[in-house]
Amino acid sequence: MGVDRREFLKIAGMAALFGLGGKAAVDIFAPGEVEASMEGIPLTQGTRWAMVIDIRKCLEKQAQEKDGCKACMDACHRVHNVPDWGNPKHAIKWIWQESFEHSFPNQPNPYITEGLKHQPVILLCNHCFNPPCVRVCPTKATFKREEDGIVCMDMHRCIGCRFCMAACPFGARSFNWGDPRKAPKELNPEFPTNRDYPERSMGVVEKCDFCVERIARGELPACVEACDKIKAHAMTFGDLADPESNVRKLLREHYTIRRKAELGTEPNIFYIV
Ligand code: SF4
Ligand code: SF4
Repeated sequence: MGVDRREFLKIAGMAALFGLGGKAAVDIFAPGEVEASMEGIPLTQGTRWAMVIDIRKCLEKQAQEKDGCKACMDACHRVHNVPDWGNPKHAIKWIWQESFEHSFPNQPNPYITEGLKHQPVILLCNHCFNPPCVRVCPTKATFKREEDGIVCMDMHRCIGCRFCMAACPFGARSFNWGDPRKAPKELNPEFPTNRDYPERSMGVVEKCDFCVERIARGELPACVEACDKIKAHAMTFGDLADPESNVRKLLREHYTIRRKAELGTEPNIFYIV
């Protein structure tokens, strides 16, 4: 049995009495109780899942559509019942767009950005190899799966402290201000009530989970599948640890950049420019 929110808050209260930090408190008062859950999800074949996004193909598709292309974002938000509260301040971002110059503020080569400067780039959690969000989480609600590198969220363990939001240098985490189960008109009944995925609730932090529930079934992430369906093929998902994988092939053949690589978090999302 793990530590739920109420138990954690009790422990946090005791911790305050003894002047301990959250993580130390759990270790002392509930040793061995904070291993992350998600037991329902079997191990997948990849050992370091990654994504390559071809910005050129994405922009080409966006130019073809009257209102730009949003297929990947629509698919992700539909599959995960991500709500749209209509208030940008409360937006829950699993996958979103931002201009190139904001996405890559330190891109040193000005010639790369010339034509791209104000163009929208698709962004999501980078599933960093060294994720600072994981290091600061006092309850281990956010954790990296050592088997395949996915940075997961266990919403049952999240106490909404938002340390992870402050630690993530990519703005990849959102605080959920409302009850997302009531938000979308057409709920995907498999999520979050799917037994393989911890149920989400109000007052917790959310982010892209690399579609752990889908890859466990041998399916592609919803955004990649949607991109392939419309024949844009701008997103490729694969195993970075396998030299023969589709992503490694793309990295060999193209020049790619990563967001804020200088910070050393080692993002697992690569962009072909
Ligand atoms: S992008 Fe942010 S939320 Fe995602 S793993 Fe990296 S630090 Fe954590
Ligand atoms: S990988 Fe899955 S959760 Fe992440 S942005 Fe794509 S569809 Fe959304």
